[in-house]
Amino acid sequence: MSGTLLTGPEPQRSARMVQSVDPVTGTVWREYEAAGAAEVGAALERARATQPTWAALPVAARADALGRFHAALVRRRHDVAEVLTRETGKPTADAMSSEILPTLDFARFVAREAVRLQHAPWRRAASLSMFRKRVRIEHVPLGVVCVISPWNYPFLLAAGVVLPALVTGNAVVFKPSELTPTSGVVLGELLAEAGLPDGLLRVLPGDGATGAALTSSPVDKVFFTGSVATGRKVALSCAALGIACSLELGGNDAAIVLADANLATAARGIAWGRFTNAGQSCVAPKRVFVVDAVYDRFMAALRTEVEAPAPIGDGGAASQPLIRRTQADVLEAQLADALALGAHVVARASDRAASGASFPPTVLADTTPAMRVMREETFGPLLPVVRVRDADDAIARANASEFGLSASIWTKDLARGIAVADRIDAGTICINDVMVGAGMADVPHGGVKGSGRGRSHGVAGLMECVRTKTIVAERWSGWRQPWWSGGSAEKARGLDAFAQLAHGPSLLARARGVAGTIRMLRR
Ligand code: NAD
Repeated sequence: MSGTLLTGPEPQRSARMVQSVDPVTGTVWREYEAAGAAEVGAALERARATQPTWAALPVAARADALGRFHAALVRRRHDVAEVLTRETGKPTADAMSSEILPTLDFARFVAREAVRLQHAPWRRAASLSMFRKRVRIEHVPLGVVCVISPWNYPFLLAAGVVLPALVTGNAVVFKPSELTPTSGVVLGELLAEAGLPDGLLRVLPGDGATGAALTSSPVDKVFFTGSVATGRKVALSCAALGIACSLELGGNDAAIVLADANLATAARGIAWGRFTNAGQSCVAPKRVFVVDAVYDRFMAALRTEVEAPAPIGDGGAASQPLIRRTQADVLEAQLADALALGAHVVARASDRAASGASFPPTVLADTTPAMRVMREETFGPLLPVVRVRDADDAIARANASEFGLSASIWTKDLARGIAVADRIDAGTICINDVMVGAGMADVPHGGVKGSGRGRSHGVAGLMECVRTKTIVAERWSGWRQPWWSGGSAEKARGLDAFAQLAHGPSLLARARGVAGTIRMLRR
């Protein structure tokens, strides 16, 4: 592993270093020089030189490399979990369930589906006028792509883009978050163990300036996951260069609890979704709308969940701390704004993280659309709950957001849940579960409105890594197409006859076109 292993207190920071800090102890345990424009340029040049050979391999050979990655990750899963725990503070169980296991599923899925996607058989053209043609639709790699990822699920979110990009034949330059560089480096090591050619994948630890250098370079696509504010900068930079970009941005997801919901399950699921990973999940439920008829009972169940003693994680903390103190400051400001505008704290966990930056799981009632907690993404364990008249009211309020990443609906009536889901503006909607779509290998993930564009995961995620290329072949090299000759009246009559033959409303009408079509073809 590159970088320097540090165990003491934070050293003098160079302006261009990124550091792995243990959020529990605050100890800097590894640091890397942040890549600058020169390193970015060199990595891209190398990737550009290596990519054609990789793309020329049969897709099955590239899929085999993902198989070797899969085996290496199974073998080294405990090491990876340890790095994730040390760098993010998440308990080992969460590192396993929310990062390593979904990545293993994902590696298998993309390896299999890429082989299907990139199998390009010849087929007949569909229309009668093109009956002589044979057509092949290929899904070819884009070339050199760059992946920029955040820190909250630093392994899964990076693998979710890097693996499909590689298996479809692209070279990748990947910049992990400056808060979790080692998780990115470890992903690179596992892929190197899988036998990728040198230079095909380059992990560049770095900061925002490194990211900006990448997005202003001549890459073939940028895959960005992160905040709305940075995503917009990335989109502007890509637009200036005419580069495609996929943007997985923030969310302010709604959870809707209908009158017939199993309230104990809804409260448990929503509490887990909001508070797991210390509330730092893009697809966490961040606004809860509960219909009036069950509001009081739901709140009682939610309070029980929130105020129960937090389970002890073995990640090193009594409960997971926030990644940095600055996150807690933002949450405190969002809470203060809500309280000043009339919200009330109705439940608050008593335990705080044993050390590190903490913000206890907190539930707010009497929130209004004007409050920051309702308008902005809250990236921590702060949960506003709103009493609504009925399902229509809940849907209207859920959709009154500039975000649209995911949502959840809680009901015993699946048909009703689906009807409500159909009316929610979001990329993924879970019924009687929460967040899970974002970790499923075969389910496309991504947002609408301010939450971004493009999809990761699923076949849709593979499609983001390729462009379609079509070959249309005339089987007889001596054949002259009827439409190559001039526009005489006779030709118009011939084409009219063909229009009848191909598109006439009845068999008889179509038969009337046969003679004229044959006459045209003979000439
Ligand atoms: P961030 O926007 O601060 O940083 C994301 C990445 O962008 C980092 O690697 C950072 O170094 C890089 N970056 C910073 N400035 C840049 C620039 N000018 N040009 C290019 N790259 C630049 O986000 P974060 O704090 O790391 O992550 C939290 C956010 O990510 C939350 O809003 C969360 O909802 C969102 N997120 C979204 C998804 C999703 O799938 N939609 C998943 C996880 C996180």
